[in-house]
Amino acid sequence: NVSNAIRIEAGVQWGEVYRLLSNFNLVAIGAASGTVSAVGGYLQGGGHSPLSRWKGLAADQILEYDVVTADGQRQTINACQNSDLFWALNGGGGGTYAIVLSAVVRTFPSPSIVATTYSVSAANATRYAKLIESFVEILPALADAGWSGYFDIVDLTLRALFHVPNGNLAALNAILNQFAANNSDLDFNSTNSFVIPSFYHYFALIMEPNNPTGDGFLVSSRLIPESIIRSKPAQVAEVFVQVKGQSTTGSILRGSLVAGGQVSNTTNRNNSINPGWRTALLRMACTQSWLDTTSQADQDFLAAQVLLRAEMLDKVLPVGSQPTCYANEAIPSEPNWQEKFFGSKVIYNQLKSIKEKYDPFGLFVCTNCVGSDDWTSDLN
Ligand SMILES: Cc1cc2nc3c(=O)[nH]c(=O)nc-3n(C[C@H](O)[C@H](O)[C@H](O)COP(=O)(O)OP(=O)(O)OC[C@H]3O[C@@H](n4cnc5c(N)ncnc54)[C@H](O)[C@@H]3O)c2cc1C
Repeated sequence: NVSNAIRIEAGVQWGEVYRLLSNFNLVAIGAASGTVSAVGGYLQGGGHSPLSRWKGLAADQILEYDVVTADGQRQTINACQNSDLFWALNGGGGGTYAIVLSAVVRTFPSPSIVATTYSVSAANATRYAKLIESFVEILPALADAGWSGYFDIVDLTLRALFHVPNGNLAALNAILNQFAANNSDLDFNSTNSFVIPSFYHYFALIMEPNNPTGDGFLVSSRLIPESIIRSKPAQVAEVFVQVKGQSTTGSILRGSLVAGGQVSNTTNRNNSINPGWRTALLRMACTQSWLDTTSQADQDFLAAQVLLRAEMLDKVLPVGSQPTCYANEAIPSEPNWQEKFFGSKVIYNQLKSIKEKYDPFGLFVCTNCVGSDDWTSDLN
């Protein structure tokens, strides 16, 4: 199914990749913001995308890496050569196993995009809780219809941007109209639906102008299982409202409908992506802005608050089950980070043995990456 592939060198950003591929009416599975580096931590940590429900995560698309290993050797890494390192690089985290010089990733014919944006507010907390419940209830229908997107739960407002690759505007409006009808006392007048001929046009017109690069923000995330959203929407909504952002303090609860669909398809995908992705529907992120003038002590305080909010999201899970966190969107001091970032202690230990094989003297170090539990906090 590889219609084509592109070799991307380290340092190239997703915006540049999207622009180049648009000349051939192709797309690759990349980040929502054009300034994210294409083959660095994003790719090696898994990489969710506006197109991941359509084709899988970014790390599912890798055919080959060109790397320099800790012994100074330049090596080609793929499913046939150094397959253990290939497995680890595809999801096991950046800055850990080797220096990636370039990666060869699948490309696909660009889809057209049907999209909608809306912002709806409630007058009080009780009405807002009902709105969020009604929203969580329609998420399975959106997912079944192939929607992807992003939404913010802040104050008494729900803001959303959703899209469907190769979608049908009438079908999209039907679901949205049902949601509006279920909340007919609220104002949906800001809703805007449109069809865009290619992913690149959608990215350039709608997504890129919202690129948050330049802001300082702390983030912690949780992968929310699809089965729980389908079976317990009221409980999920209740927790989302408890964790919602507040504009006065610069916090946001951002949901990303970027899992499920092809992310859940594990056929022919032998990589170390956190298995929490394979059963999730949403990636929920608790974010908190901070200013350049914020002291380290205040940043630490804010980070602790973000961690507390993320832990509140764990209340949607059955008692005793393992929460999973997307390591690329995390506070490094997350408790039990080995299990949360990599899915289980078994997977973590497997990654660690590959780290020890390819980097026996610990040349590559980063905080709470695989192997860092053997180092002191100053990474020595
Ligand atoms: C504005 C913004 C938007 C984002 N949007 C998304 C999104 O849509 N989807 C998503 O999944 N994530 C998203 N993220 C999170 C992103 O995945 C992480 O920030 C990720 O760590 C970025 O990797 P980087 O290489 O750009 O950053 P860096 O901070 O440079 O690197 C992160 C880690 O990777 C290592 N690394 C970097 N380059 C290499 C290399 N060539 N070889 C080996 N190791 C390397 C570094 O040493 C470091 O440990 C976003 C982040 C931002 C700031």
